[in-house]
Amino acid sequence: MQKMALVTGAGGFIGHHLVKYLVGHGYAVRGADLKYPEYEDTKADEFIVADLRDYDKCLRVTENIDEVYHLAADMGGIGYISAFHAEITINNTLINAHMLQAARYHQVKRFLFSSSACVYPQYLQKNPDVVPLREEDAFPADPEEGYGLEKLYMEKLCQYFTEDWHFPTRVVRFHNVYGPLGTYDGGREKAPAAISRKIAALKDGDKLSIWGDGKQTRSFMYIDDCVEGIYRIMRSDYSGPLNLGTDELVSVDGLVDIISEIAGKSLVKRHDVSKPQGVRGRNSDNSLLRTVLGWEPQTPLRQGLLPTYRWIEARVTNEIGFSGIAAE
Ligand code: NAD
Repeated sequence: MQKMALVTGAGGFIGHHLVKYLVGHGYAVRGADLKYPEYEDTKADEFIVADLRDYDKCLRVTENIDEVYHLAADMGGIGYISAFHAEITINNTLINAHMLQAARYHQVKRFLFSSSACVYPQYLQKNPDVVPLREEDAFPADPEEGYGLEKLYMEKLCQYFTEDWHFPTRVVRFHNVYGPLGTYDGGREKAPAAISRKIAALKDGDKLSIWGDGKQTRSFMYIDDCVEGIYRIMRSDYSGPLNLGTDELVSVDGLVDIISEIAGKSLVKRHDVSKPQGVRGRNSDNSLLRTVLGWEPQTPLRQGLLPTYRWIEARVTNEIGFSGIAAE
């Protein structure tokens, strides 16, 4: 019989791509979100517009569901998550606790929670030449304020539901996901999209404003790897937290160089150290992921940035739904 999947956050970046992937793999898919996807029609068989902070809505969307892919969250890039601690924490606390409770009430077969590398302690991320983070490094805890703390709490809640009530959960720690159809303006965008948007709007030789001193490092995972990883982790028998990311470490200046080269533009870097830049360095240790799945994200950064930049460039240069705020 055809399996019925629920994707929460199906109006968002990863959720929308995941809906397409699951439909392509033979699932009947119900999407749920506050909003429809912005850049393309949903491929979900059914889409419920609902505020998942509300327990009754969570009960409604989890009815007759086999697998829950829970991605809905109040989130954004570093500018957003460092500015709204109270709002983000209360919203995500309500969404997550209610979704988990409702999924258990309806006895869904599996529940996957999208956690984040923001759970990792800040004291391990003070150096651009960072040691890749292993799953067990999350404790002793010192996560990103607000957003990261709430993700860590929800990870534990999933663990307790599994240990005490045998409720089957999966916990995935994403490391920076990028790709076409992702948020690229408005304040919630992350570095690859924000830099692409700025570069698309500039001319050869212009000044490019970069948040921080450009030496901070990260790894970035292409969206196709992300949805495949989610699918594989849901199917695995491992219920502890798992990193899902690449271990291709790059500095923000390095990221700028790759995107400038794709754009064919030579730009003058202007670093703005008054802007938030997050931890100094963060990378994913994929040892456990490789052991559990025999697989890890494959797409080299430059290869994934090519379609991402082209998609954003087309929107910026043709002003398709673009706010016009390019420079900051
Ligand atoms: P996104 O913002 O594009 O999608 C999240 C969706 O959740 C949005 O469409 C939003 O409308 C929806 N949502 C927010 N509040 C809601 C509510 N009260 N009720 C219903 N829906 C609500 O973000 P994304 O990049 O697709 O992220 C998906 C998940 O992955 C999130 O849980 C996020 O924390 C996690 N994550 C993402 C990244 C990344 O790099 N994109 C990294 C780490 C973790």
